Amino acid sequence: MNASGANLFEEGVREGGASSPAPATTSAPATTSAARERAAQLRAQIDHNTWLYYALDAPELSDAAFDSLMRELIELERRFPELVTASSPTQRVGGFVPGEAFAPVTHATRMYSLDNAMDLDELDAWLTRTILATEPVEGGPAFVCELKIDGSSLALTYRDGELIRAATRGDGITGEDVTANVRTVRDIPLRLRTPIAGEIELRGEIFMPKASFERLNAQIQAQARAEAKDARPFANPRNAAAGSLRQKDARVTSERDLATFIYATADDAALPAQSQWELLAWLREAGLHTNPHVALCATPAEVRAFCERACEQRTSLPYDIDGVVVKVNDFLQQRRLGTTAKAPRWAIAFKFPPEEKTTILRAIVVQVGRTGVLTPVAEFDPVLVAGSTVSRATLHNLDEVRRKDVRVGDTIIIRKAGDVIPEVIGAIPSLRPADAREWEMPHACPSCGSPVFRDEDGVAVRCSSAECPAQQLERLGHWVSRGAMDIDGLGPKLIEKLVESGLLVDVADFYRLTVAQLAALPTGEEKYARAMSPEKREQTGDFEKEPVLLGETVAAKVVAQIEESKTRPFARVLFGLGIRNVGKTIAELLCHRFGSIDALCAAAEEELCATPGIGSVIARTLTQFFATPDNLRLIEALRSAGLTLAQEPTDEQSLPLAGLTFVLTGTLEAYSRDEAEELLKRLGAKTASSVSKKTSSVIAGPNAGSKLTKALELGVPVFSEADLLTILATGEIPPVYPDVL
Ligand code: AMP
Repeated sequence: MNASGANLFEEGVREGGASSPAPATTSAPATTSAARERAAQLRAQIDHNTWLYYALDAPELSDAAFDSLMRELIELERRFPELVTASSPTQRVGGFVPGEAFAPVTHATRMYSLDNAMDLDELDAWLTRTILATEPVEGGPAFVCELKIDGSSLALTYRDGELIRAATRGDGITGEDVTANVRTVRDIPLRLRTPIAGEIELRGEIFMPKASFERLNAQIQAQARAEAKDARPFANPRNAAAGSLRQKDARVTSERDLATFIYATADDAALPAQSQWELLAWLREAGLHTNPHVALCATPAEVRAFCERACEQRTSLPYDIDGVVVKVNDFLQQRRLGTTAKAPRWAIAFKFPPEEKTTILRAIVVQVGRTGVLTPVAEFDPVLVAGSTVSRATLHNLDEVRRKDVRVGDTIIIRKAGDVIPEVIGAIPSLRPADAREWEMPHACPSCGSPVFRDEDGVAVRCSSAECPAQQLERLGHWVSRGAMDIDGLGPKLIEKLVESGLLVDVADFYRLTVAQLAALPTGEEKYARAMSPEKREQTGDFEKEPVLLGETVAAKVVAQIEESKTRPFARVLFGLGIRNVGKTIAELLCHRFGSIDALCAAAEEELCATPGIGSVIARTLTQFFATPDNLRLIEALRSAGLTLAQEPTDEQSLPLAGLTFVLTGTLEAYSRDEAEELLKRLGAKTASSVSKKTSSVIAGPNAGSKLTKALELGVPVFSEADLLTILATGEIPPVYPDVL
């Protein structure tokens, strides 16, 4: 592909195109005005045919005819450069735009994510709730069912009909500018067929078709083989699409086969459409690629039928989908329903049940975690589940291995929890080999050989040594991880090398590392000692490899990152210390309550227990931690390094949910009732067992009973479990469902 876009469509993707001859070209225009007119005609023709081909899948021109038009336009623009416009089809392929790529872009309105219905019952509950909320005002709503495309969200801004910007979703408020790359995606019109005055942001999903993903990975592997490098293929089409979108050089993106389905706008008042169904029609007319598998459903039964059909046909589609998005059709009804902090109330993502696959369990290995817990991990023959190949999954603990009764040699069933984390469901007993033995937890730590013991809770088995190298590596890795000090560039391999070379023992040592020490470290990767052609290597066999060193540039970056981590707030430092049972929320709570490491150190067990959300187990772990001389020395070392070990104390009244009383009813999925109450309390809320006028909110799961009725009678706001998760994550109460209440 060249930067001018001359062979824009010579990728074999247009095979099977119609074979009408090239339109006769006129003799080359001699004057600028004739050229301008001809260029406009050519652009209109090319845009029209691009649209027919990519958006409607119905080409009218042959590849040769199309290329001929494109070449004529390129030639014309070469002769009359003043005629080149930003939306000319010759301008799709940009080039390397240093610095400008990925600048932050604020979306016209927030790009929400979607609440999920994990099965048909949850979908039913949502449909019922939504109908209830809408009916009294409008009569029953109609629903639009669309496939949930498994790619990346994309926002396209058009000004007076011209594409001026493309951005990723980012955090929903601010995304990244990916305009140069997105301009290379052929099914995105650079100019709308139905221009609209002013700025308008259109939204959809960008993805890579399955076949293109396979081709790309095969190419990556072939190239790596030829260059004697380790291949890094993409795990699934979603990653391939996201990776291709974030290329620094738009020419690379241009060679990746990306496509889009557009289904939304940032401001539906700006378009001549009153409903989602009309919006889809408008988008299609305007030249955007819309998904053909959509349905307008009048009843819940029709919605369910669409979801079931989509689930059956999922694997035969040429692109990945992970569910169905059901949307209230009418925009007015959508506005009335409003949004929660995270997602619109007028839409729901029905997620397909997780795909299950069988494979053979080859081994159960044991990993030692940062607090010394021994975790059995299943290693099995690689198997493709929900879009990526997996070969390992945690088995959590010995009880879980027993409960699932999995044995080496078994045919096991794998699925992905939440479509991400592989999980062993169990074994097929009838396929068990005769000699398969029950698995036993080792009696000694596989890392350091020290004896292991069962925890007080009776579930976890731990290594008894505080010096265990596996624990040490995990502790160091935890310190640099996202939720803790968030230090980039210090991966597990590098940490291992630092430990091996004696530069790193505990987390305070990170702050003593110098650029020179880091630069001289082997990265754990190897390169061939001599460059050679693949043919030569074939003849001579593999040449020797030599270690790749980290080098000055990367070392300086890592040191800068370590330095920057000193600014992380106290709660992150406390979490980073990796004290057993002290997760992020507990660390926050302790910081609020005690304000400094010194106050925390001095706190007695009873004082700790008196903190809402802190039980006796955590209190004991903390006092033990602060009674250990090594830990106190570590804290002093961190203090000298300049880390943040205090924050302004906060009283309980300043906790986000202080003064609010919650009542929980019905079944919750993510937490038990007790756990949910505990988490609410940690944020300062009170919980009660019956509903009264004083109740601030009721959280109702499926099968909610009289408490829900009472709440509705009294006008107490009712929230779903999805809302509860938002409340726990943000500490904020979403706006109230207006029509139900
Ligand atoms: P999630 O990221 O699981 O919360 O799902 C929300 C995302 O689904 C949105 O941000 C979109 O990127 C994506 N999505 C895919 N297909 C659709 C669709 N037809 N309608 C709305 N969102 C969709």
